[in-house]
Amino acid sequence: MVQWVNDLLVLQNVDMRIRGLIQRQGMIPQEIVRLRKEIATVAEGLKSARENANKTSLEIKSLESQIKQKNEHIAKLQVQSGMVKKNTEYQAMMKEITELKSGISDLETREIELLDQADERKNAFRNTEKEANAKKQSLEEEIQELQQLTGELKEEIARQQEARVPLVAKLDTDVLTRYNRLLKATGTPLVKIDNGICGHCHLKVIPQTLHEVGKGAVTTCENCGHLVYC
Ligand SMILES: [Zn+2]
Repeated sequence: MVQWVNDLLVLQNVDMRIRGLIQRQGMIPQEIVRLRKEIATVAEGLKSARENANKTSLEIKSLESQIKQKNEHIAKLQVQSGMVKKNTEYQAMMKEITELKSGISDLETREIELLDQADERKNAFRNTEKEANAKKQSLEEEIQELQQLTGELKEEIARQQEARVPLVAKLDTDVLTRYNRLLKATGTPLVKIDNGICGHCHLKVIPQTLHEVGKGAVTTCENCGHLVYC
């Protein structure tokens, strides 16, 4: 293989590695944002699960306070009923007491249902909490790994950039100028011609190009302008 091709391929390898590392590095901030969003979603889910679990206890508390009020009301009516003179008034009080007792009985039935539910919900919440915490931890670890990777990539890019300095020094200014221009675009600047086909644009090159390449001259594909070799 011609010397300039050999030297440029070595440099190109390093540059492609640097390009890949920079691309990887560029993706990290977005990945971290996505993971942070996921953590927020997990926290929100946990919050609403907690509120749901607490709802039952709050309802139980409210039932207990209603039962207490009704009992107090009954006690008051019982005291008053001993003092009324008119039978109709007495009957009305007794009727009210019966209604209050029936109300208490309904409330107590509901309370028993809720006490069962409260236990179930508490257990369900504990499981949700455990899962959410594990998920949160694993997401946080992922973020830490990405932050660590950022540092590693930065170091590796610096190492590769250092490694390219002596490789650049080996090359001719003309080759280097063309190469650097192509490096800014996509694909590899220096491509192989295979069966007369350019490795970048996949079009057939003209015989003149093949001839130049055969002589080892610095040649570009007439279609896409990429540096070519055989
Ligand atoms: Zn081409």
